[in-house]
Amino acid sequence: MVEQAAGIARVSLAPDSIGMIPVEESRQLAFNLEQKPVAKPSALAVDLLIRATLDTHEPDLELPPVRVSGRMRRTLGSYMPSRRQITISSRLLAMGAEDDIRQVVLHEIAHAIVHARWGDKPSAHGLEFRSVCDEIGAKPRRFVAVTTEKWGSQVRYLSKCGHCKVLIVRKRRMRSVRCVCGLKLYPKSWRAVAPNEGGDTSEWVML
Ligand SMILES: [Zn+2]
Ligand SMILES: [Zn+2]
Repeated sequence: MVEQAAGIARVSLAPDSIGMIPVEESRQLAFNLEQKPVAKPSALAVDLLIRATLDTHEPDLELPPVRVSGRMRRTLGSYMPSRRQITISSRLLAMGAEDDIRQVVLHEIAHAIVHARWGDKPSAHGLEFRSVCDEIGAKPRRFVAVTTEKWGSQVRYLSKCGHCKVLIVRKRRMRSVRCVCGLKLYPKSWRAVAPNEGGDTSEWVML
């Protein structure tokens, strides 16, 4: 209580402070720090890695741009032969270490090359797969070991106040929240995001 009293005294003694305004301003300022733009995760680096790898090892193979999926939970990447589609988890892209992303992408490229060379005959992670892995510098394993423990603590959930339009950022999907404008909200949906550590740290990236 003593510290709080001292704090209040200091605020009211400041020459430019009138009533509650400095307190309100500082609250607003602290909140504005969370008002970062929300961007889609960029898969540009992944597409470049795919193209560079194919140019060297399977130049005639054309793959569509990588698909980024926010629905993948336990899967970090996949290859769908019917569409020649490599899909990468948005969580991996947003929060994964660079080398982990690289290993997952190379693993899926290996599946694509095996499919291009031998069709559906080889078993998923069999001899052909392992030889392609050796060729392109992927680890010739069924799984890519990725440390995901810290990812959960980085995830935030965004909602928008319908009244003042500010972003509301929380660690969990809450049933109700109070906005800085005073309105109590019952958000119907929360959007999962993470700090964009791979890129611009002043923005959120959608998961
Ligand atoms: Zn695989
Ligand atoms: Zn509001």
